[in-house]
Amino acid sequence: MANSADTHCPYCALQCAMTLTPAAGPVPVALSTPAAPLDVQGRDFPTNRGGLCRKGWTSASLLNHGGRITEPLLKGPDGVHRPIGWDQALDLAAQAVREARARHGADAVGVFGGGGLTNEKAYMLGKFARLALGTSRIDYNGRFCMSSAAAAGMRAFGVDRGLPFPVEALDTASTILMLGSNVAETMPPFVQHLKGARDAGGLIVVDPRRSATAAFTADGAGLHLQPLPGTDLTLLLGLSHVVIHENLVDTAYVQERTSGYSAVVRSVNAFWPERVQSITGVPAELVRQTARMLAAGARAGGSYILTGRGVEQHVDGTDTATAAINLSLLLGLPGTARSGYGTLTGQGNGQGGREHGQKADQLPGYRKITDPAARAHVAAVWGVPEDLIPGPGLPAVQLLKSLGKSDGVQCLFVHASNIAVAAPDANAVIHGLRSLDFLVVCDFFLSETAAEANLILPVLQWAEEDGTLTNLEGRVLRRRRAVSPPAGARSELWIMARLAERLDAPSTYSEDPETVFEELRRASAGGPADYSGIDYAMLDRGEAAYWPYPAGSTGTPRLFTGRFAHPDGKARLVPVAPRRRRTPDANPGPAAKAMTLITGRLLEHYQSGAQTRRVAELLAAQPEATVQLHPAAAHAMGIGDGTLVSVVNSRGEVVCRAELSTAIRPETVFLPFHFPGAESANRLTEAATDPVSGMPEFKFNTVWVRPVAAP
Ligand code: SF4
Repeated sequence: MANSADTHCPYCALQCAMTLTPAAGPVPVALSTPAAPLDVQGRDFPTNRGGLCRKGWTSASLLNHGGRITEPLLKGPDGVHRPIGWDQALDLAAQAVREARARHGADAVGVFGGGGLTNEKAYMLGKFARLALGTSRIDYNGRFCMSSAAAAGMRAFGVDRGLPFPVEALDTASTILMLGSNVAETMPPFVQHLKGARDAGGLIVVDPRRSATAAFTADGAGLHLQPLPGTDLTLLLGLSHVVIHENLVDTAYVQERTSGYSAVVRSVNAFWPERVQSITGVPAELVRQTARMLAAGARAGGSYILTGRGVEQHVDGTDTATAAINLSLLLGLPGTARSGYGTLTGQGNGQGGREHGQKADQLPGYRKITDPAARAHVAAVWGVPEDLIPGPGLPAVQLLKSLGKSDGVQCLFVHASNIAVAAPDANAVIHGLRSLDFLVVCDFFLSETAAEANLILPVLQWAEEDGTLTNLEGRVLRRRRAVSPPAGARSELWIMARLAERLDAPSTYSEDPETVFEELRRASAGGPADYSGIDYAMLDRGEAAYWPYPAGSTGTPRLFTGRFAHPDGKARLVPVAPRRRRTPDANPGPAAKAMTLITGRLLEHYQSGAQTRRVAELLAAQPEATVQLHPAAAHAMGIGDGTLVSVVNSRGEVVCRAELSTAIRPETVFLPFHFPGAESANRLTEAATDPVSGMPEFKFNTVWVRPVAAP
């Protein structure tokens, strides 16, 4: 390898810049073909300014981890995975596809992708599914992450880019309202961009828990609003009510740049602050104060409203994100020089992963698969007739519910996703995986999903191949190969190319990342997420590349400055209303108490934990799940700090130790979702979905809590 490689972190969407260099010292002998261990250094870049979190610092330790899968593995009748050669593995996968298609039709083959795939792989996976496998049934784990905010952004602005402005723009803001995001744990270097507003007393955090981010307001004169779970939409309607009734609306902006004002005024009339207090638990005066701070900030250094998964991962997540956008439009924030609305993308390539065709309803360039012009353009790039591209498939939860059903998926390919832990109603998902005729999982570790697979195909890790990702700002970044991979592992691009050959697929499937990116550029040209002006050479020169970046342009660091992406150039104010939705759940016993479960992340772990649970330092720091309970609620149930607790509902049970904390509301419990088996929080979450986005209900579930020793 070269002396050093400038690249970006393998984990979250902040995509902190780092430099990898060969580490001094001996190479561990745990593998027969060990990768060279690397030293990681934070690199100066606008998003992280040299900072990394502990996940980034330790990320290279997985490259030569002793648990790495380095050969294809086939599960035998005894349930044991044994090594086989690549030719045999690919022949078996192709045969499984042919058999499923012959017996059940093309849609009996499914693909589940991930927001960790590079742009090149996300693009190729959409093409591979639709042309080589001939199926409409492709979706990905971003459905569990960004889909509500993406749907709301599309509806209001005509296009969805997480932050439609560079992240440094936050540095000089007077007021920042952050709803449902705990960046101090999920992406710690991001906090430096909140410091200006925090020091000015203008940081407002909305979270049912006093999270690390909420606690960050304490040194300034900021606010922490602690609503009851599931009432965020009501709180946002209350904020808009105050803005309208205290004449804080930017009337010139609303008249010139939006439509739908009257309907939104009517939709918030019934949400005066005292009524909002009675529903959400947030004091009426804090509702008024928040609205006034946002309006004052917009007139001073700028105001930003940012949403995260806490308010979006609900069956009304699209409407909640819409209510946040409505508030921002009433205040005249989006598309101005100093203010804005944005949503904080979570997964490493959560932004790029939702632009290039992994979604069930989408073609590359963020085009709709039902749009005839989009189909014609993409078909021409692929060199196939339009009618060879299937129509819309099933969103992720519906795809998973179909596994093994008579009209459902019988043969599934999983890439960059650990659905046995990360999907809602995880017990049902595992049952579905076991109902399949054939499951192929591409992974570098024996994840809980890979353990269910008939066939495991070992793939490369982030520092072992080239590619691009798109960070939470819509900025395209280069990921560089820094180390040789284990001899038996392959890129997903190579795997798709070899399978396409075996399936006599139309079109071409390059295994070279830059060649794939060149094709992606052409496929995206003219679409909302236009990458046609971006190439590897400019990224290698360090040039900033924010999409849309049509050929001949200089890209778009700040969106919507002149017009929004709807044909008339105006943003849409869309009236929304709360709807009750909690699903009743049977009481499992007299000693149990009904609570509301919210789930989330911890500093040490990422997503399902399939990677970070294998990093010794991270596992030592956070080895297991604990359920966070308020002391008052816990003591009433005879639960002390460290007591073994059962958290149960009709879908499953989690058994773990209690962690007592006044940071949480008394009627609420918190579980991290990074852990498998008896500690798997998603055994308890509901697979009901938002009707617009397909987002599952992760953050508002009834559970029953009791000490394990109770009768
Ligand atoms: Fe990696 Fe995110 Fe941590 Fe940065 S904040 S080091 S991108 S996990």
